[in-house]
Amino acid sequence: MNHQRSPLTRVSRRRPCPECRTSNHACMIRDDGSAAVCLKVASDKPVSWGLGGWWHFYDAPRTTPYATIMRVAAPIVETPCAFIEARDAVYSKLISSLTLRPEHRRALHARGLSDAAISVAGYASTPTEMESLRVVESLNDCDLRGVPGFYRTRDGWRMVSLASGLLIPIRDARCRAQALQVRPDVAHGAKYFWLSSKEREAGASPGAPVHYAKPHLLRDASEIIITEGALKSEVISHLSGVPVIGVAGVSTFGADFGAHLRESFPSLRRAVIAYDRDLLENANVKQALLRLIAQLETARFRVAVRMWKPPAKGYDDYLLEQVLRAREVAA
Ligand SMILES: [Zn+2]
Repeated sequence: MNHQRSPLTRVSRRRPCPECRTSNHACMIRDDGSAAVCLKVASDKPVSWGLGGWWHFYDAPRTTPYATIMRVAAPIVETPCAFIEARDAVYSKLISSLTLRPEHRRALHARGLSDAAISVAGYASTPTEMESLRVVESLNDCDLRGVPGFYRTRDGWRMVSLASGLLIPIRDARCRAQALQVRPDVAHGAKYFWLSSKEREAGASPGAPVHYAKPHLLRDASEIIITEGALKSEVISHLSGVPVIGVAGVSTFGADFGAHLRESFPSLRRAVIAYDRDLLENANVKQALLRLIAQLETARFRVAVRMWKPPAKGYDDYLLEQVLRAREVAA
């Protein structure tokens, strides 16, 4: 990791403070995102110069593997994706102003998540047209330019309209909401899609970032599980207590994924890949799996591919079966 200090710059609407998530105070952030001075949120490291405030230092580097994906996957001219600090501020406010409808909560319970886990992951039901107008109004202190899902019209900013479904935050290794996925209640085609506004004015595409479940455990963990899907990774992490990475698709982990993991989390030794059983019968998936294994081994990980007994299709289903069985025995 690069320990050379990068300069401090005053936060702006374009790049809000990572702590208070606004640009209302004279908070500052290092250009590489490795530290911030917030005037509102205290830490045990007060600042003695300038306007005061408190230092906040961040472990994981700002660049995440998906930056690589975005560079290769953006052939048409579009608004660049907003800074992670801006996306996190907007998406956090969006989620906190929405509710989780009872049928969505029940569906998450059925997959094995507790109310506490649901609240940490930050799931919400998609807004109606009326709700999304109100939400955009409440975001008037944020710069929405380049935040995927939002776009500019002659009458001001709008959010793309969404069918009824579940909003799924895709969090980086520092638990910041870097993108949102939507799981529509009635799927026409894909089961999940990205909240994106790349075809609209001042809108952007989120790329295909990976999701970190329980990233706070990564600093001391020796093992990480890699699975397909953010929701699945949250369930596996909740039921196993292990940090999990959910890749958006079996081949969307990016060229420097292994090297990035090694650099960011030196204590990690073992990577366990837990893809759905039926996926492994697909030749293309097998190819992607071999590439992932090679990348992780090059980054000096011991790699294992997890298998389990049928009928469970996913590792999340298998873990849930085990938990339910244990409860039955105890009852
Ligand atoms: Zn601040």
